[in-house]
Amino acid sequence: MVEQQLAARGIEDQRVLDAMRRVPRHLFVEPAAAPYAYEDHPMPIGEGQTISQPYIVALMLQAARIRPEDAVLDVGTGSGYAAAVAAELAHRVVSIERHPGLAVEAAATLEALGYRVEVVTGDGTLGWPASAPYDAIVAAATGPSVPPAWPAQLRPGGRIVMPVGRPGRAQHLAAYTLRKDGELHETNLGAVAFVPLIGDQGWPASG
Ligand code: SAM
Repeated sequence: MVEQQLAARGIEDQRVLDAMRRVPRHLFVEPAAAPYAYEDHPMPIGEGQTISQPYIVALMLQAARIRPEDAVLDVGTGSGYAAAVAAELAHRVVSIERHPGLAVEAAATLEALGYRVEVVTGDGTLGWPASAPYDAIVAAATGPSVPPAWPAQLRPGGRIVMPVGRPGRAQHLAAYTLRKDGELHETNLGAVAFVPLIGDQGWPASG
C-alpha cells in the first residue's frame, strides 16, 4: 500500500509514510472486510459512512504538516483510522464524531491498539473548544466552506485541511494556513468525493 499507492503517487513526507506503515488498517474495518483493507478505495464502516481511501488519508495528513509537538483536531472519527495515523504524528489528538455508535466503536479500537486519542461525540463543525488550541484541524467530510468556529480554535500558523463542496457534486480538497493577520491562505489539492459535513456550520442533516 505505502509503496504503490502513496509513495508512487507523490506522498513524500517520510513521517506520514512511516505512520501509514505502522497503523494496522485491517483492524479498523469489519472482520469480513479485513482482507481488502489495504486496497485503493474507501470502504463502508456502518451508519452510511466510509473509511477514506489510504491515499487521501496520507494526502490530508501530509498537507496538515503535523509536527511531533502538535495538537490535532480530527473531525469525523468514523472508524478511528485517520485519528490513529494522526496520533503517530502528533503529541495530542482529539477526534470528534457525530454518530455516537461510531465514536464508541472507534474509541474501543484505538484504546485496544494503545493509541492515546480523546474521542468525543458532537458536532465537529463547532470544533471542540474544550481542548483548543490546535495546530491543525483535519476534516474527512465535505463542508460548504471553513466553519467559522475553527480558525478561532487554531494557533497562528495553524492548518485546516478539509474537502469543500456539495455532497455528490464537485468538491475539492483545500489546505488552509492561518496567517498572523487572521486571514486563511488556501491551496487547492484537487478534486475529491466525500460524505457531507453535517452540522450547525456545515450542511443540514436533510442533505
Ligand atoms: N476519518 C475516518 C476514518 O478514518 O475512518 C473516516 C471519516 S468518514 C469519511 C466521515 C465522518 O464524518 C463520518 O463518520 C461522519 O459521521 C462524520 N461527520 C460528518 N459530519 C460531522 C460533524 N459535524 N461532526 C463530526 N463528525 C461528522
